[in-house]
Amino acid sequence: MSWQEEFVDALKSTEDLKSFFGSDFPNTNYPIFIPKKFAKKIKDFGPDSPLWLQFLPHENENQVNGRFDPIGDKTHAKGHQLIHRYDNRALFMPTTVCPVLCRYCFRKNELAQKDEMFSQNFREAKNYLVTNPDINEIIFTGGDPLILSNEKLAGLLQDFSEIESIKYIRFHSRTPIILPSRIDEGFIEIMTSAKHLFKRSMLMIHVNHLAEIDDEVQAAIKKLAGAGIELYSQTVLLKGINDQSEILEALFTKLNDLKVIPYYLHHPDETLGAMHFTLSLEEGRRIVHPLSSRLSGWATPKYVIDVPGGEGKISAINPETFSFSGSLLNRHGWPIKP
Ligand code: SF4
Repeated sequence: MSWQEEFVDALKSTEDLKSFFGSDFPNTNYPIFIPKKFAKKIKDFGPDSPLWLQFLPHENENQVNGRFDPIGDKTHAKGHQLIHRYDNRALFMPTTVCPVLCRYCFRKNELAQKDEMFSQNFREAKNYLVTNPDINEIIFTGGDPLILSNEKLAGLLQDFSEIESIKYIRFHSRTPIILPSRIDEGFIEIMTSAKHLFKRSMLMIHVNHLAEIDDEVQAAIKKLAGAGIELYSQTVLLKGINDQSEILEALFTKLNDLKVIPYYLHHPDETLGAMHFTLSLEEGRRIVHPLSSRLSGWATPKYVIDVPGGEGKISAINPETFSFSGSLLNRHGWPIKP
């Protein structure tokens, strides 16, 4: 089965889940999408496993606390699928489609409602980049950019390479973990040619637990690493999933062995529909602290938090070294915009 066929054949409703897993699931405010091959893996790990809890709907998603847009995407959205939060880089969201729907996703509300910030007008997006030459890096996100066809991706890279100020390209993706068959020869060729179109081109793989990395995933990552593609990882610290030092240590050790540089460990955002995955900064620091004596500096990701409201990412380890323009404090003692 091709990756496109796997994609079309995915589980998409509570009825699909019931017949596949043989148990009932609650209706939530959020859609369902799990490719069957990955669903089989979840089933093998069983209820309450880190895979089950990340991808199967839970009644806690219907709680009404949390933010619709926890990191202020909409504050910095420029229309035309661009978010410009930092001076030198912009997020580009060419799709709202993902290889799986993660129940903890910080963008789950915008994605579920197909927010207008995803509306397409590539010519306008390009105009914005040309008239803002301080932007030298494009970060493909979404949705998940690797769900686009090779032809579409190659065309977009060609377009961006024609903008003189764009030097760096980065893809953020969960696809190598969920749908490893997507890492086909055509995609390897695209990433290889991107090395010549841009000064740097990178793939940042979203992975949260060692259980996600089976033989097929390892083979896909090795194919990418073998082609000399720069690989990084990002992980979300999630209550009940990976909130133990040993679990994180095992994950980062495996990633390093696969030649993926662990880059970000995100403190969970306070997202409407995903508050049951959150933990306090104090808990997070307690979990992360032992890693410094167990892993080398280069083998350990930066533990970061997105300041609620859209101020951007900062270290979650030493908040007192940063200053903000906001004056209110949230329950962690973090400044937030009124
Ligand atoms: S793949 Fe990424 S964008 Fe899509 S639901 Fe998961 S975390 Fe969210």
